[in-house]
Amino acid sequence: RGDSAAADSQVDSVCPYCGVGCQLTYHIKDDEILHVSGRDGPSNHNRLCVKGRFGFDYPRHASRLTRPLIRKPGAPKGVDPSFDPADPSSHFREASWDEALEVAAEGLKGLKAAHGPNALAGFGSAKCSNEEAWLFQKLVRTGFGSNHVDHCTRLCHASSVAALMECIGSGAVTASFMQAAEADVVILTGCNPAVNHPVAATFFKQAAKRGTKIIILDPKGQALGAYAHQTLSFTPGSDVSLFNAMLNVIVSEELYDADYIREHTEGFEALKEHVRHLTPEAMAESCGVPAEDIRAVAREYATAERAMIFWGMGISQHVHGTDNARCLISLALACGHTGRPGTGLHPLRGQNNVQGASDAGLIPMVLPDYQPVGDAQVRAAFEELWNTDLDDQPGLTVVEIMDAIAAGTIKGMYIQGENPAMSDPDLDHARAALAKLEHLVVQDLFVTETAQFADVILPASAWPEKDGSVTNTNRQVQLGRQAVPLPGDARPDWWIIQEIAKRFGLPWDYAHPREVFAEMKQGMASLDHISWERLEREASVTYPCPADDAPGADVVFGDAFPTASGRARFSPTLPLPPDEQIDRDYPTVLTTGRQLEHWHTGSMTRRSRVLDALEPEAAASVAPGELRRLGLEAGDWMQITTRRGSITLKVRVDPLMAEGMVFMPFCYAEAAANMLTNPALDPFGKIPEFKYAACRLTAAEAP
Ligand code: SF4
Repeated sequence: RGDSAAADSQVDSVCPYCGVGCQLTYHIKDDEILHVSGRDGPSNHNRLCVKGRFGFDYPRHASRLTRPLIRKPGAPKGVDPSFDPADPSSHFREASWDEALEVAAEGLKGLKAAHGPNALAGFGSAKCSNEEAWLFQKLVRTGFGSNHVDHCTRLCHASSVAALMECIGSGAVTASFMQAAEADVVILTGCNPAVNHPVAATFFKQAAKRGTKIIILDPKGQALGAYAHQTLSFTPGSDVSLFNAMLNVIVSEELYDADYIREHTEGFEALKEHVRHLTPEAMAESCGVPAEDIRAVAREYATAERAMIFWGMGISQHVHGTDNARCLISLALACGHTGRPGTGLHPLRGQNNVQGASDAGLIPMVLPDYQPVGDAQVRAAFEELWNTDLDDQPGLTVVEIMDAIAAGTIKGMYIQGENPAMSDPDLDHARAALAKLEHLVVQDLFVTETAQFADVILPASAWPEKDGSVTNTNRQVQLGRQAVPLPGDARPDWWIIQEIAKRFGLPWDYAHPREVFAEMKQGMASLDHISWERLEREASVTYPCPADDAPGADVVFGDAFPTASGRARFSPTLPLPPDEQIDRDYPTVLTTGRQLEHWHTGSMTRRSRVLDALEPEAAASVAPGELRRLGLEAGDWMQITTRRGSITLKVRVDPLMAEGMVFMPFCYAEAAANMLTNPALDPFGKIPEFKYAACRLTAAEAP
């Protein structure tokens, strides 16, 4: 698309995709992005993956929303394959901002007046800035009047956060992924960094080349396996058994760090007793891993001087996701592997700002900085800051909101930048719920699948079109800057939220995101010593930050944990099976996730020319043996059937897949993987079991 010499300006910003938070520069000519280059940010050192480098042109796609839209009377709601997002005139008419905002707000206000605050809910977005997340949750809590506000963290790391909050008093990572360079041993479990956090993967590869032992614990193989010291491929869903067996080895062979446990933890005696009988020999069959291999991995981790554990959604997206994370935390605490360079616990965050959006309070049970809504003192502080009363009841989570719509208790929603008609489990149920809403306001870049249910669609801002801060997986707060103008009548998300708030009678008057950031600092101690001016000057500051001139803490909790006692807590767990089992009718395990080239529900990357050309159509991946058993060849059509439905798509062979498993990306609307997934929830994190559904594979004709 050109070179730097052809550009007439350059703007420094941050990648809009994954939680790695690569810093980049937009090269611009005539208000168009020509190309993107990497900057020397702390989490990328000039590197970018294919999404960051080539996925910059989606804001100028032909189907970009540039005018507010209002549904035409009688236009059907629902995902219609024949609907053309580039010409939505079959279902929607264009409107002025005044009219669209009036219709949007009046519909919500009317439902509140008729049915009370609990009739409304909102989904904010981890794709938006910290300031926009703050404003969105503030609008729901102070304008709608309830805590029914959530976002996609519920679908990725809610269970990890639940376990971390319970055990160590903080939901964020204890050390950055750059610390892998200092570690002797790194465990990667339930994550596939080469695909989902590609630039973080380069740090793991470099660490391995310098001598760090990489241990991969996962049901299926992955590209980083080539760098691994050891890989354990365990039976899907047997995570808790495997981790308990490792804890048994550490306890029975007295490999634990007694000094660390005495000084920094509580509950170890109960854990010791709990894992006494969960020996590798007892767990080997359910894990599908030889006992000796479990012993070897446990010894490697426990006897390392410095070791880290990284995990992803293969850990969190289970009905026992919180238990999985509790086990990983117990492993680190038992061995004293936190609080020092080269040690730590790190749930690799998925979306570019899922850490920041969670910190800013897009969570139904906590106010910003994870402060419980039920805590009167916390509430009083925010009531004073926002000059209003706040609800003391935790709100509903993403899937619970869908259930409440289906049950008729939630009747109106404001959805900003989220696409539950693609991202929720058991999509037939989720889409039926969206269709039942009496009033739905969607704010997005495109007429997404979710927007096809909307009464009003508000054209929002793409990341290169606005200023704002984001917080990556390493707790690094970074600044995105406006690089190109907004097209047509599209507006920054923070402006749109404020206009809705004004129509709810809220006296908001923010002129720029920096003013929102200043207010956030009054409610979020995590932002102490981080100012907008610092971010402009330094590009990245890590929280917690001890001083105005300090870079922030890369490794935390060396002295004490942010719990009432200052100690971390062991939380013993018992193995639980997946919610549904494989059987004769459904003998294969379906797991879902992302592809390297596409991100989340594909609304941005599938509208990016290069990324779409690289991966233009849906395909499911199976192991070579599975393909042979089905009598298929790569590129043939295959049907996947679960207890919730069937999808026909092409099949691809992947030598790294485990036998008895099939993988489906969830970004393709024409083969929407979440039609098939199980909505069963982890009871603590309320996260659905996206990583395990019993299914049947059969050869199929082209649809
Ligand atoms: Fe963007 Fe993540 Fe790729 Fe970095 S690794 S360029 S943040 S998608």
